[in-house]
Order: sequence, then C-alpha cells, then structure tokens
Amino acid sequence: MNKKYHRLITEQALRECFGKPALEDVIRANLGLDALQGQIGHDEYHFDANAFSKGRAFIEQNRALVRPALERGDAAAARRAFGRLTHTAQDFYAHSNYISLWLARFPADGWPPPEAVDAFDGDLLDGPRLRSGKLYYPLEGLSFIPFLKKVVLPLLPRDSHTWMNLDGPEQGPKFEYAFAAAVQRTLYEYKQTTAGFPAELLALFCG
Ligand SMILES: [Zn+2]
Repeated sequence: MNKKYHRLITEQALRECFGKPALEDVIRANLGLDALQGQIGHDEYHFDANAFSKGRAFIEQNRALVRPALERGDAAAARRAFGRLTHTAQDFYAHSNYISLWLARFPADGWPPPEAVDAFDGDLLDGPRLRSGKLYYPLEGLSFIPFLKKVVLPLLPRDSHTWMNLDGPEQGPKFEYAFAAAVQRTLYEYKQTTAGFPAELLALFCG
C-alpha cells in the first residue's frame, strides 16, 4: 500500500480504539516499515515474493512484544510493535492475489460492493493458488518513478510486484477491495492483540 492508504486504513479501522496521539504512534511505526532499509531484503514486512509464512511469523513476533512492553510500562514500544504488524497485515491484500481470487468467484460485471469483501476466507488464505508479487530489481526500482513505469511495465513478468500490486487506486478497481479488506484485517489484529488484556493494560495501550 502507498503510505497515504496505510494511514487511512489504520485510522478507519482503529480510531474508535485509540486516543489520537496513541494512534499516531501506531501509524508512525506502520509507515516506518516502508523506509528504504525496510524495502530491500524484507519480503516478510510486506508479504512480497510469496513470503507468506515469514510474513505471518513477523506479525506474531510483533504481537508477542506488545503485552510484555505494556507490563513494564512502555506504551510506546507496545504501539511500535503493533504498528509494525498492522503494516504487514494490510500489505497482504495489496501484494497478494487474494483479492483477485476472491473476485474471480463473481462474474466480471457482477462484483459485489468493496465493503462486502471477506478478508478472512480460509480457503483462499491458506489455499494453493495464493501468490504475491516478486521484486525484480533493478528494473522493478524504476517502476516506482511514475514516468518510467510505462517503459518498464512491459519488460517485467506478470508475477512481478509492479503488475500485481494493489497499492493505490491507479492500479484499478480491485484496489477498493484491498483497502476494505485491510480495514477489516486491521481491526481483527487489534482484537487478537488485546484479547484478554486487563483494563489497565488496555488503557495504557490505547492512550
Ligand atoms: Zn509495505
């Protein structure tokens, strides 16, 4: 997802859950995974290149940091860990073919509205047809420069990130579905993370 949409998705999903400054902490950590050092050699941050088990492990590793951080009174570290995992959870829908597989069940002229998307279809989440885009560097790097994208697109394979991503609305109508699914998933991750928290830990986490 482009930064703008990571922010919007996180705000839409979690604005009822966090106070404003706490939500900003979460969003800052979410966006932090897209810094240059998080772009190269970290397929698991973004569910790129079929790194599905590594991506899921990254989410769980971060989730496991949240409660211990709160128990030692470090709300900032708890929000950073949670912010990172929301980024990865959101990128799943933008970088995999999950949305394409889900939409393929409907006729091309009969897609349900985006908010009807089911972000948790077990057959697709763990199915044999699930794929995510690979980054074919260095060519792929040029595709991030808008006027060069047209030039490199025909040279890149169909399983490349450039062809497959739903990072923004310029990628076509499937983006709206990736966005809606990412909102659902972000709220789900919040519920998973905070399940069983005593009231005082929840209050500390949420600000
Ligand atoms: Zn990302």
